[in-house]
Amino acid sequence: VEKESSNLNEIINSIYPLIMADATKNDIEVKLVLADDMPELLLNEKEIKQLILNLVRNAIEAMKADCRRLGIETHVHDDKVELITSDSGCGIDSQHLNKIFDPFFTTKDNGTGLGLAVCQSIVDRHKGSVEIRSEIGRGTAVIVTLPRS
Ligand code: ADP
Ligand code: MG
Repeated sequence: VEKESSNLNEIINSIYPLIMADATKNDIEVKLVLADDMPELLLNEKEIKQLILNLVRNAIEAMKADCRRLGIETHVHDDKVELITSDSGCGIDSQHLNKIFDPFFTTKDNGTGLGLAVCQSIVDRHKGSVEIRSEIGRGTAVIVTLPRS
């Protein structure tokens, strides 16, 4: 996999119009909070775009109730950068939490179950990690950690 020195915030900004179009269509409010001291990371830009779009798609698909808020944040730490996508959606059943990264696991009528499996392999190829925080009826946050190179 080819990686090049890239800025995660710039990658997010480059797909922001796409995200906004999808959010607006679904009556979702978007809050973007990008760290202002983002260092260059070794990234495969196409893969990182795919990662973010998969997470955002899941967030949008999880929001059917009145309160529809999508968050995208970046945070910079000494040794790592975090990308957090969050939603005010349905949350994830605790019994499903250990299955959602499995290829073909889906709870949707027309789901492929491949989105998070792809996210996991993208994060693995970047030597990062993914963590899920979810509460039924309140929402879900996906925390992606990428190492600083
Ligand atoms: P798909 O979206 O095709 O179902 P994914 O691999 O993207 O496949 O997600 C697998 C499952 O994880 C989803 O079907 C859903 O049950 C759960 N999931 C993922 N993201 C969220 C989220 N933000 N909120 C609620 N459930 C989620
Ligand atoms: Mg999906």
